[in-house]
Amino acid sequence: MIDCKIVKVNSVSFKYEKEWAIKHANFTVDKGQFVAMIGPNGSGKSTLVNLILGFIKPNIGSIQVFNQSIKQFDDWKEIGYISQQVNRFNGGFPASVLEVVKSGLVSRLGMFRFLKREHTQKAIEALKIVEMEKFAKAKIGELSGGQQQRVFIARALVSDPSLLILDEPTVGIDAKHVNDFYDLLGRLNKKNGITLLMISHDIGTITKHATHVVCVNKAISFQGTSDEYKQFNKQNFTHVHEHMDQ
Ligand code: ADP
Ligand code: MG
Repeated sequence: MIDCKIVKVNSVSFKYEKEWAIKHANFTVDKGQFVAMIGPNGSGKSTLVNLILGFIKPNIGSIQVFNQSIKQFDDWKEIGYISQQVNRFNGGFPASVLEVVKSGLVSRLGMFRFLKREHTQKAIEALKIVEMEKFAKAKIGELSGGQQQRVFIARALVSDPSLLILDEPTVGIDAKHVNDFYDLLGRLNKKNGITLLMISHDIGTITKHATHVVCVNKAISFQGTSDEYKQFNKQNFTHVHEHMDQ
């Protein structure tokens, strides 16, 4: 492929009712990158992701994903999505881990009853990738937040996506398991070749693991490699201190 842009956001603006949530946003995600999308609360990160997924349409500007105009999310077999409000299942929720993972094939196949043995196999393979195969028969509600998040990643992996979009997936993961979670993401990115676009408010941690950083504040205030981001941050920090000294 000559142009390896996975996501291209071109001068996009979007408003809910009267308030602009996104203004003139431009950024790209290239094949193989692990892009950290960061920014303060309410800065428009989830809105941008919803625009990329086609859940909402830009008022101005355009978006291309895999060099095509965006379409309905269900048609995007190439995109796996972990939403911000993953409903934490409580202990009483009856579905097994395997059923949850297989449900990732439902929208692609139409009806659950069409699921066959090969789909069970596919779900087990996905559970192996996230190191959760021994929990296949466990009830989803009995798992920890971090384990459930791995199951949701497996659910997204069943359709062999080449892009995985994750909105604040580390919320609800125990601090001591967050590094393991990033190890998993690193493997998906490097070993499985999946491009990652991930939102997190834990800026210090995500910018250590990601290859690239996008800062959102209605517009895109920075886009570059993680090293460039560190440099950018240092300059801004110095600038603030110089300002304070005056
Ligand atoms: P972030 O994910 O960066 O925290 P969001 O994209 O969720 O930010 O929100 C950006 C802005 O848009 C916020 O001011 C928020 O209140 C507003 N907003 C988000 N969703 C809606 C909605 N469904 N209707 C109206 N306003 C919304
Ligand atoms: Mg959000």
